Amino acid sequence: MGGISVRNLLSFLERKDKKLLLFLSKVRLKEESNKLLLITEDPVLKKRLEEIFKLSDAPEGVEVLLEGEEEKKDSEDLPFTEGLNPRYTFENFITGEGNRVAYEVARRIVEEPGKFYNPLFIFGKVGIGKTHLLQAIGNSALKRGYSVIYKTASDFSEEIVQALKGGSIEGLRKKYKAVDFLLIDDVQLLSGKVRTQTELFNIFNHLVLKDKQVVLASDKHPKQLRDIPERLVSRFAGGVVLEIRLDPVTKLEIIKAKLKELKVEVEDRLLQTLMESVPDNVREIEGAIKSFKISGEVPVKEEVSSIEKVISAVASHFGLSAQDLKGSSRSRRVSQARQVAMYILRKVFKASLPEIARTFSKDHSTVIHAIRKVEEERRRSRKFDNILCFLEKNLSSKF
Ligand code: ADP
Ligand code: MG
Repeated sequence: MGGISVRNLLSFLERKDKKLLLFLSKVRLKEESNKLLLITEDPVLKKRLEEIFKLSDAPEGVEVLLEGEEEKKDSEDLPFTEGLNPRYTFENFITGEGNRVAYEVARRIVEEPGKFYNPLFIFGKVGIGKTHLLQAIGNSALKRGYSVIYKTASDFSEEIVQALKGGSIEGLRKKYKAVDFLLIDDVQLLSGKVRTQTELFNIFNHLVLKDKQVVLASDKHPKQLRDIPERLVSRFAGGVVLEIRLDPVTKLEIIKAKLKELKVEVEDRLLQTLMESVPDNVREIEGAIKSFKISGEVPVKEEVSSIEKVISAVASHFGLSAQDLKGSSRSRRVSQARQVAMYILRKVFKASLPEIARTFSKDHSTVIHAIRKVEEERRRSRKFDNILCFLEKNLSSKF
């Protein structure tokens, strides 16, 4: 037979079960060479349709699929990925009392995704390895042939908003619903972003229902998240929620490992000073060791952490995270916020160019360029100048 026509299909359905016609809005039709695919998100409807098309007088060439199954068919054996940085692995993650459970659960879910802990929700203070763990999960899953998307909540939100504006939201939903691992970082930044929350809610339900693994990280326990609706919070907490901390033993291990990595030798006495002078924040430990390598002095605690505070404050003013600013995104929003942070650190807090460059992992000509750009933009735009006046005033009195 030369493929079934939609008209035949409809008249057959009408004959067998009129009620089904009422549910046609829940069915997507797709023609494929000699076949007609009926795709639906509703498992009950799928079952009923299958029964009907098994009847002996049913037209041939009809296949009933659950939404998502069909995407698998299209792209079989072609894992896709977004947002992963190969630098972060399980192998270079140092474990100890404060993070061991999270680490072990993370490894386990790569071995058996979607089965045990779905979603996995990791929370903890800044700079203690949440992003590292999420990325390690992603890299390891990718190696095993799974499709993985890693996104910070703010990048995710930006993507959703753009797609809603540009009419490409269907494609985006399809992309997210086709992943095996969805890793969303800095979930606290979803607060107040209503449309993004709705999209995430739908994608989330779809994935979890299909036993696809979702992993979330945040600086707060789900229950402490603000301006995120209860239905989403309860989904976040519906798998397993684990906190990671930096206990003293692990902290010392990390300091030793980072010293070795950066080829810095120190006496035991200095190791102790480092322990006490740096906060429980691995990023700042790295920063402190790097600056020690250059200057030979252990930086005082306050100096290191006020830089971090300023970056966080500027980031949150722009609806971003410190991690975004320190990352490599070149989207206009992120790079402008990054430039503003550099500018304020230099002009208000008198941080040195190498210090700023190091904090952002950039070279110092980039910092000079950033400062110039901000100066230009201040002259050009009244609105921008106002924002900066506000930030300068606000931050200089705070830190
Ligand atoms: P968070 O996302 O919690 O703010 P990150 O994952 O970005 O923190 O960690 C900050 C830096 O510290 C990264 O460079 C990361 O590789 C490193 N780091 C954090 N925890 C560990 C760990 N347990 N072992 C090795 N490196 C770590
Ligand atoms: Mg992070």
